[in-house]
Amino acid sequence: MSNIANNLQSILSELPSDVTLVAVSKTKPSADIQEAYDAGQRHFGENKVQEMVDKWEALPKDIHWHMIGHVQTNKIKHMAPFVHLIHGCDREKVLKMVNKEAAKNDRTIDVLLQVHIAEESSKFGFDEAELLELIESGRWQEYPNVRIRGLMGMATFTDDKGQITREFNTLKSLFDKISKSFGEAFDTLSMGMSGDYSLAIDAGSNMVRVGSAIFGARNYDA
Ligand SMILES: *Cc1c(COP(=O)(O)O)cnc(C)c1O
Repeated sequence: MSNIANNLQSILSELPSDVTLVAVSKTKPSADIQEAYDAGQRHFGENKVQEMVDKWEALPKDIHWHMIGHVQTNKIKHMAPFVHLIHGCDREKVLKMVNKEAAKNDRTIDVLLQVHIAEESSKFGFDEAELLELIESGRWQEYPNVRIRGLMGMATFTDDKGQITREFNTLKSLFDKISKSFGEAFDTLSMGMSGDYSLAIDAGSNMVRVGSAIFGARNYDA
């Protein structure tokens, strides 16, 4: 078996069956994705729209493509025909533009609302008050071609496992608190990456986004 297939198998063996593994393939060549695909993997995550479009064109059409990066609203139209789940809806303008482009494609697009949970100030996302306001105002229902499937968050980049767990627990509590407001489709909690996915699962994640532990370290100069 290739390294990629081995890595996938060992990660999958640790995941409960209700947890979806999104293999984060950003910066990696299509050949690596094909290897993971041949090993049975179908969910892949990218953080740049153009790169995802190029890979979508080159690779098998039954791949589920996840946009996990920060969303620039002028790029939404390029992924609207095929994207499976947009994790990074971090402001209302993104919901509005996804709705518009989804309608043009006669689709309903699934999204996650990105929530700011890290103590670091650089991470994007709604805070709890903004989310509650979006619910209480009823405005989230103004986007009929968007289906809000859940929440996504990223913990602080730190070795402090206690802090990471606190941040994941905060997101899980918020998820439980608001899930009824969004109805039955609201079932996905995306949290956990290569370094912290087991902590995320212990805290209640059911979707992990794992890159380097599958494909190896990324080389941004390549
Ligand atoms: C790159 C990235 C990941 C994967 O990171 P790894 O540490 O390589 O597993 C997960 N989520 C987001 C949002 C990312 O940008």
